[in-house]
Amino acid sequence: MLQIKNLNKSYPIGDTSLHVLKGINLSVENGEMVAIMGSSGSGKSTLLNIIGMLDEADSGEYILDNLPIKNLTEKKAAVYRNKFLGFIFQSFNLINYKNALENVALPLYYQGMKRKERQELAMFHLEKVGLANWAHHLPKELSGGQKQRVAIARALAANPKLLLADEPTGALDTTTSHEIMAFIQQLNDEGKTILMVTHEEDIANMCKRIVRLRDGIIIEDKKVNQVRAEQYV
Ligand code: ADP
Ligand code: MG
Repeated sequence: MLQIKNLNKSYPIGDTSLHVLKGINLSVENGEMVAIMGSSGSGKSTLLNIIGMLDEADSGEYILDNLPIKNLTEKKAAVYRNKFLGFIFQSFNLINYKNALENVALPLYYQGMKRKERQELAMFHLEKVGLANWAHHLPKELSGGQKQRVAIARALAANPKLLLADEPTGALDTTTSHEIMAFIQQLNDEGKTILMVTHEEDIANMCKRIVRLRDGIIIEDKKVNQVRAEQYV
């Protein structure tokens, strides 16, 4: 699915620079469910954003689905992002003046799908996350867990190969976190490849592999026995 070799990233700070990723090597196969862990500032989001083509590395190699990701125009990057990747964020990032259905349908609009078709597909994905009855509600009328489920439906709408999640349970209480993790595990059971950032050990243990970052270096990369989330909900 993806191969990263000797990836480096620095951010300019005044006259100097902050070296955030220091020679990252990482491969992820189809069907994996990987947690990226590490304390705040260790470079997790930077790595996820590079993998998600939201940011670019300074040096090193990144191959996604056999495609070298380098010097892409913004237009081309957007096409690949739309085609290959789904994103879930801690703060949901829903559009607050659009209802649940419209939020889920938005990536399909960017793919040029016709209105009726994208509404049907969006509804299918809302049903999958158990929110068919909430299709015409605005984000502000939904609970945190419901908002994250809308965001998951949106991330899946265009059938991405890889689902990227940055602290998807970071803004949720424990029970709701477990509900969301049960959903994400189910997606992985169905074959979706998942890469998620978390700093919570119990959430990381619900993945199948943990990659630990410290100060921009991978200090540990191990397989884990997946703890199932549905037993807690
Ligand atoms: P994490 O997600 O592990 O908390 P980040 O990848 O967000 O860490 O950030 C790693 C380091 O890079 C932090 O010190 C952060 O302040 C810095 N950083 C992140 N983004 C930028 C940016 N756009 N400009 C400058 N510094 C940044
Ligand atoms: Mg972060």
